[in-house]
Amino acid sequence: MTVATPSSLYADLNVDAQADAPLAPRTWYGIGGKADVLITPKDLASLGMLVRRCHRDQVPLRVLGSGANLLVSDAGVDGVVLSLDSPALRVVEFNQQGNVEVVRAWCGASSEKLVQDLARRGLAGFEQMAGIPSTIGGALRMNAGGKFGAIGDAVHSVAVMMPDGNEQIFLRESLSFEYRHTNIPEGIILWAVLRLQEENPLAVRERVKEYFNYKKLSQPMSARSSGCMFKNPTLADGTRESAGKLIDLAKLKGLRVGSAFVSTEHANFICVDATDARATDVAALAEQITTRVFDAHGVTLEREVVFWGADIES
Ligand SMILES: Cc1cc2nc3c(=O)[nH]c(=O)nc-3n(C[C@H](O)[C@H](O)[C@H](O)COP(=O)(O)OP(=O)(O)OC[C@H]3O[C@@H](n4cnc5c(N)ncnc54)[C@H](O)[C@@H]3O)c2cc1C
Repeated sequence: MTVATPSSLYADLNVDAQADAPLAPRTWYGIGGKADVLITPKDLASLGMLVRRCHRDQVPLRVLGSGANLLVSDAGVDGVVLSLDSPALRVVEFNQQGNVEVVRAWCGASSEKLVQDLARRGLAGFEQMAGIPSTIGGALRMNAGGKFGAIGDAVHSVAVMMPDGNEQIFLRESLSFEYRHTNIPEGIILWAVLRLQEENPLAVRERVKEYFNYKKLSQPMSARSSGCMFKNPTLADGTRESAGKLIDLAKLKGLRVGSAFVSTEHANFICVDATDARATDVAALAEQITTRVFDAHGVTLEREVVFWGADIES
């Protein structure tokens, strides 16, 4: 049953609110339905109050980053979707301590822009994020990364707004960053402090270029997708195998369900047609791939892409 989200949750707060907000334009897939209400808090106090009220009234609350790892149901989602892209939540602060540059990047800041900015300033340690579309919050949530490292490699500390609205800071020593996983607790990731080293800007920029080119050559970067659909699974002998390779060996490249198809360039990318694409097609294709990879290799794939909406979430 759908229950409308009451405006009393946010009417007196310093936020932008849009009822029945289309989410498709906010995701890389460009598909999916509407949010009951999309709220963009303009300051931390309003964010905290909103989170507390949603918690108190048990209103579903979902956090949107740049939508690069998301599939939204065609039927949309109930409750509040939070957008963290107001200027106050996109700030990046620089502060030198000795010869270590300490950078605090807020959740809504774009990782891609930060990669470029740091290269210009000659600050090394974040180049591994080149070509990974994300906000700082979204990247931290799943420890985004690839062949050259992950965001966790640069993290000194992280602040989280817990579901009850209280803020907690976690130092590096208490955090673990593993392959597409971290122990950052449930809640809204507010910011991360990154530790970076000074280096010749040209050298940093060269690495950024090299990493970006590697990605461009190995992935369909401009297609409509959410990146890799599945995590690389750990096999019985403890080694990690490429999910793309398993999908390819099961001869699933090019497989199609309606508007969704397995990329012929990279088998772990489910892409969609430019028009009339549907989330149900993507979800059905992901399901079919899981079954067929299990039949072919006896390996269960785990999804990397986050699905929103009752009909596809399971
Ligand atoms: C072309 C393409 C290439 C890609 N290549 C890579 C790659 O090489 N490596 C890789 O790891 N990923 C890759 N991805 C996937 C994507 O870039 C990452 O998963 C990225 O971290 C998603 O960040 P986002 O801000 O878009 O998060 P979203 O997709 O908006 O959200 C993802 C999840 O994070 C949660 N979230 C977002 N912000 C916050 C916050 N502040 N606090 C708490 N939770 C939050 C959301 O609720 C959701 O559960 C690729 C995607 C595309 C489209």
